[in-house]
Amino acid sequence: MNPCLRHGCSLCCHETEMPLTDEDIRRIEALGYRDFYVRSGHLRVLRNVDGRCVFLQEGRCTIYPHRPEGCRFYPYTYDPWKDEIALDPDCPYAHEFPPPDVDRLKELVMRLLGADDRRF
Ligand code: SF4
Repeated sequence: MNPCLRHGCSLCCHETEMPLTDEDIRRIEALGYRDFYVRSGHLRVLRNVDGRCVFLQEGRCTIYPHRPEGCRFYPYTYDPWKDEIALDPDCPYAHEFPPPDVDRLKELVMRLLGADDRRF
């Protein structure tokens, strides 16, 4: 079981700044949702309502099977300027997550950055 579910933790879904890919937006819009993201600089990030991701209800993600790609990799992150994979120190259970597919995580981050350049 996912460590988030095992511990009943949704900390990373509070005050989220998770960026969305074009495909994330298409997939979530296909579910009928609108107004679920805001612009943050050159990114589009999940909207927060009352300090929580718009999709977090009673501690659970209401779109879990369709959640953004970045949510799937969290608590792993990739810094392309340092070329480093890191664990978010704010996640209390970070050490319980299996290692990510590094190539896919890097590809996601580069896609987000590339998408920004095309869009703006
Ligand atoms: S989409 Fe789901 S997993 Fe991602 S931040 Fe929102 S509630 Fe959490």
